[in-house]
Amino acid sequence: MSAPITAGELDAAGAALAAESARFAGLGWMRGTSGNLSVTLRTDPLRLAVTTSGRDKGELTPQDVVVVDAAGAAVPDQPRPGRRPSAEAGLHARVAARAGAGAVVHVHVIAPVLAAARWPGGIVLRDLEMLKGLGRSAHDDEVTVPVVPNGQDMTWLGDRFDEVFDPATPALVVAGHGVYVWGDDLAQARHRTECLEWLTSFALAADQHTS
Ligand SMILES: [Zn+2]
Repeated sequence: MSAPITAGELDAAGAALAAESARFAGLGWMRGTSGNLSVTLRTDPLRLAVTTSGRDKGELTPQDVVVVDAAGAAVPDQPRPGRRPSAEAGLHARVAARAGAGAVVHVHVIAPVLAAARWPGGIVLRDLEMLKGLGRSAHDDEVTVPVVPNGQDMTWLGDRFDEVFDPATPALVVAGHGVYVWGDDLAQARHRTECLEWLTSFALAADQHTS
């Protein structure tokens, strides 16, 4: 049994999540109240700190955070009970558990979603320097960013994720919706999200240019 999550620990996670959310909001990738970020606090049993639902992601405070379990449900034994996670926390938990991620980013960034509409079977990328930002090689390495259909049932969506998960590719695009990108920590997850945005923007522009 792992140690209880303290208020100080949760505040620190909340402060980091609020700062990262503000950066994503500044990029225009968390429009309205969309998107959510999480960090892994415990792995056995799984506990994530995830941004609360329905808040402007450019204005989060360190208290706008909730602890969820492996199903994405708020746990009763937490420092500030009563806060509500997004339903999407369920997919954060599936990704964190399967990929062993320290942080998961979910944002509604346009380019990967457009690329998923163009290539619904997966977005194939190769021979691009920015692939190194996803932990892959810039040359002689074909990377397929998986695409799954959108859905509101996170168990169903998690099962679709399980079908396409590739440990070497830290990203998933949900068609007509947004992306999940993960890493060891929030900074790595953001860097990977930024690289995925560049790569998919490039792929779309190159496709226009050559077709
Ligand atoms: Zn979403």
